[in-house]
Amino acid sequence: MEPTAPITQDVMTIPRKAPEGPQNIVGLTREGLRDALIAIGTPEKQARMRVGQIWQWLYHWGVRDFDAMTNLAKGYRALLAEHFVIAIPEVVSRQVSADGTRKYLVRIAGGHEVEVVYIPEEDRGTLCISSQVGCTLTCSFCHTGTQKLVRNLTAAEIVGQVMMARDDLGEWPEPGVGTGEAGPRLLSNIVLMGMGEPLYNFENVRDAMKIVMDGEGIALSRRRMTLSTSGVVPEIARAAEEIGCMLAVSFHATTDEVRDKLVPINKRWNIETLLNELREYPRLSNSERITFEYVMLKGVNDSDADARRLVKLIAGIPAKINLIPFNEWPGAPYERSDWSRIEAFADIVYKAGYASPIRTPRGEDIMAACGQLKSATERARKSRAQIEAETRTG
Ligand code: SAH
Ligand code: SF4
Repeated sequence: MEPTAPITQDVMTIPRKAPEGPQNIVGLTREGLRDALIAIGTPEKQARMRVGQIWQWLYHWGVRDFDAMTNLAKGYRALLAEHFVIAIPEVVSRQVSADGTRKYLVRIAGGHEVEVVYIPEEDRGTLCISSQVGCTLTCSFCHTGTQKLVRNLTAAEIVGQVMMARDDLGEWPEPGVGTGEAGPRLLSNIVLMGMGEPLYNFENVRDAMKIVMDGEGIALSRRRMTLSTSGVVPEIARAAEEIGCMLAVSFHATTDEVRDKLVPINKRWNIETLLNELREYPRLSNSERITFEYVMLKGVNDSDADARRLVKLIAGIPAKINLIPFNEWPGAPYERSDWSRIEAFADIVYKAGYASPIRTPRGEDIMAACGQLKSATERARKSRAQIEAETRTG
């Protein structure tokens, strides 16, 4: 430091930058990790090997302590511990539904909370993860849409949700035991269907997905990961090229008039623009088919005419239609379609040659369904805030 440099009041009292603590080593891509290791003095020639070693400890074995990285020299482990931390979101609460669904509330930096849901099925276990705290979009049937965007999650916070779930499921391999090829894994699939619009947090979502897909770590194949978007058209081709996972699209309506109301991003990129883009996706990403999500709202989008329009619209796109019975939330302006209506709709779609599974609501007793996430938490927070306000005025 130059001894003559004037120290202004401003610099003394208001640090321009938060004091830099150790960096989180979770969430860095292989390239990012390499750069970070070189920056702390790892010789360039060794960097690649060190990345491989550390990567395996973090994402294959799930260790949380540099000292457990026994194939690294003691001094090097100490150097790592001096500069980095291994940090994942902290579990605040965990609820288990009668049907086995697990809902976790996790806390991330800044005290924000997001929810993660694990859904066990016979042949698979799906983890539903979040990409943002809140959402900038305002889909009228979605509870997350009524909450403001607070911030994007970092790649570490996204991959950290997967690591947290593996911790809870006890699914990190034991030395000498395989990685799960022997049978279905407990956590075998990931869907980006929690809070937020993943394509509005592109880089962090991409980096996190790449870490999860990496064959030397958690190693879930790209076919077992599904990114759900409301239809951010300009990012779809990029998702195909840079992530290459399966794509689900929140379609929900068969006319622009109705879709404008349900999924307002439709005013920016309408049905035709979206479909034109989707026709390119399977080719670009080698994915077999696109999932069209369709929430069943009584009297709004659930008629036979809607079903027929839907199959006409998507003609030529390798697709599966996932019908989602609307999950009601307090104050929601819609109702769930009757079961017979949902079945009649599914039948028309099925007869047109598309798989049309009806999503079974899971974890209803713990409000773990799509579009309900965070609602209970937000309500709890609201009532705490109300109580505080009342205490102040009372
Ligand atoms: N933002 C992304 C991903 C998160 S929402 C997207 O919109 O695709 C995941 C899925 O749940 C979307 O298809 C969404 O439309 C649907 N969804 C939201 N609220 C719902 C509700 N209350 N009932 C049923 N499905 C809902
Ligand atoms: Fe956001 Fe998806 Fe909810 Fe729409 S449905 S408000 S894009 S989270």
